[in-house]
Amino acid sequence: MPDAYFQLLDATIQQLEELKARGTRFVSVSPQMLETLARQQEGRKNFKLQTPNSKETSISNVEKGTGQQETGTATEPVAKEAAFADLQRRAMACVKCSHLASSRKNVVFGVGNINAELMFVGEAPGAEEDEQAEPFVGRAGQLLTKIIETMGLRRDSVYIANILKCRPDTPGQAYGNRKPTPEEMQTCIPFLHEQIDLIKPKVLVALGGTAVEGLLGATGINKLRGNWHIYRGTPLMPTFHPAYLLRTPGDKRKVWEDMLKVMERLGLPISEKQQNFFLKTG
Ligand code: URA
Repeated sequence: MPDAYFQLLDATIQQLEELKARGTRFVSVSPQMLETLARQQEGRKNFKLQTPNSKETSISNVEKGTGQQETGTATEPVAKEAAFADLQRRAMACVKCSHLASSRKNVVFGVGNINAELMFVGEAPGAEEDEQAEPFVGRAGQLLTKIIETMGLRRDSVYIANILKCRPDTPGQAYGNRKPTPEEMQTCIPFLHEQIDLIKPKVLVALGGTAVEGLLGATGINKLRGNWHIYRGTPLMPTFHPAYLLRTPGDKRKVWEDMLKVMERLGLPISEKQQNFFLKTG
């Protein structure tokens, strides 16, 4: 059974998202309530959690065993894996968008390293992603993998997810994709928020105008890309979607310049060859 704490946390996040969607910018929380919540969090240090292999473990034991700092948060390795598995279970069972739940082949939750320093966020799975239950596996995904590798990283060392976990349905169409609607993104984005809050990447990359709009509520990818933003306390770099690059290969250097900024922010080494990729010579 999912941990009651995470159920409550989920419900609270959802409630706050709904308030935000309705234009509420502030909520008042009394000092007494903050004190109560802090006490609850303190109490969680010794709560029993179900690990994926069903062994009961106390977080404080895990912390002692690994010599990690005792922070009392649910992000210690075993707790983090359990929280992630619980989140995935909830996403897999989600039927909030009944039209998408009935048309999907798979829920495309996300892929990669849950301890990644770098996380890519796209808009929604396409047909191939829906088929394979993995984000960015089609032609655009293959280009994304190349970009990641050109940065000197491996696809499985970063985390890749979409705002929408289900493929947007295309009723009456034999092929093709459609953009997710703002309502669909709004409904699904709490799952992404939980993914970000658990992974705690150092840098987020938003892929394409639709993802940027879903995350930042801002339009105009041409102006937004290449500039740092903050999302849930994490630096976010908007850039063009790899599918756009397949149609407009002349803009590859722009994406590469954005990725150089990301590499710099992550403290990754940048060779002269990497610095000069896609530069026109002569
Ligand atoms: N485009 C996206 O935004 N996400 C995918 O997973 C695939 C294509």
